[in-house]
Amino acid sequence: MSTASSIELSQRVQSIQPSATIAMATKAKELKATGAKVYDFSLGEPDFTTPDHICAAATQAMKEGKTHYTPAAGTVELRAAISEDYQKTHGISYAPSQVVVSNGAKHSLHNVLATLCNPGDEVIIPAPYWVSYAALVELTGATPVILETKQEENFLLKPETLEAAINERTKVLMLCSPSNPTGSMYDEAALKGLAEVVLKHSLLVITDEIYEKLVYEGRKFVSFPTVDPQLVDRTIVVNGVSKAYAMTGWRIGWALAPEAIAKGMSKLQSQQTSGPSSIAQAASVAALTSSQDCVEEMLEQFAKRRSYVQGRIANIPRLTNTDMDGAFYAFINISSYFGKSFGGTQVDDSETFCLQLLEQQQVATVMGSAFGAEGYVRISYATSMDILEAGFDRLEAFLKSAQ
Ligand code: PMP
Ligand code: GLU
Repeated sequence: MSTASSIELSQRVQSIQPSATIAMATKAKELKATGAKVYDFSLGEPDFTTPDHICAAATQAMKEGKTHYTPAAGTVELRAAISEDYQKTHGISYAPSQVVVSNGAKHSLHNVLATLCNPGDEVIIPAPYWVSYAALVELTGATPVILETKQEENFLLKPETLEAAINERTKVLMLCSPSNPTGSMYDEAALKGLAEVVLKHSLLVITDEIYEKLVYEGRKFVSFPTVDPQLVDRTIVVNGVSKAYAMTGWRIGWALAPEAIAKGMSKLQSQQTSGPSSIAQAASVAALTSSQDCVEEMLEQFAKRRSYVQGRIANIPRLTNTDMDGAFYAFINISSYFGKSFGGTQVDDSETFCLQLLEQQQVATVMGSAFGAEGYVRISYATSMDILEAGFDRLEAFLKSAQ
């Protein structure tokens, strides 16, 4: 009989780390449960509740008996709404059969990678990258190839850096714009530069555009396949309702993909999870097809917080960050504080920095090392002004205590 201690988990599961964003949020929640007041900037999720009309659509769906399995790739209504929304915003027409709806964009990313990658394939990921990218690639047996970008270049991947990393095993490039964790966004010219290399080497591109509706001060978001018509056959666009509509708990994300890839993903999903929640899908139809005022209202709040955060960072000695074009993160360079001691603990890396900041000032952030960029911390400003003010006061007090 096997005992718990003799059970060996698969090598793939053993090889990945738990998600650092979720681990830091859990630590913050545990501390809160002890009665402590915690200033939580760890998790990237809107603090707003889902708008009423979207919740009402879910209730209506339940009353109408939309409580059964849906097609594995999602309901006809939602796939049509997604493709219409993309056509209206970006001008490219995807057939509903090219849309696959999954249990959140994280699941979509997993499904795309599992559909495309074999062991030995290489997937290029520019760093800083969102925590789950490398782990999701590793789970397929493929190899993540991490390419560093520079803060002074706004953390954007240069075409020449991409070109130099390509070899016969390179299969996919992963992009995230606006970026989690940096907030940087590629403009049309930057995307065109990357597109040339992608087309020259016949790469596939997974472009994670989940923050597309959250961009600031008149900046224009450009979706990757729109910069060259040939990209449509080589690109998988990933998106979802979590961020723009404050629907993180509903778990709906999707991929727009070339027909053959969408078919593969749908087949995989039919064996793996079936279609996502019928009720959450009905709510997502309402999110996409009714008035977008709620998105504008939330964006206005995020914009105020972004300005506040930018002002605070600029006023704290020796902290730097880049322009925050979109999303709701600041990626702060804290490396000039390394080598100093905080409350008796020497800090030489971002993980120790974050853990000490949490322990000494109850401010929860996420270490840059989890995003493939040592020397930084990520704060999510998707939280109230009160918490931002008090949290930044505490961060400042922590930094002042450096010896
Ligand atoms: N991509 C990025 C860049 C994200 O920040 C997130 C947030 N969790 C996701 C994908 C996944 O979103 P979800 O699974 O909630 O749709
Ligand atoms: N995307 C969010 C973040 O980066 C949510 C947490 C997660 O899914 O990892 O914090």
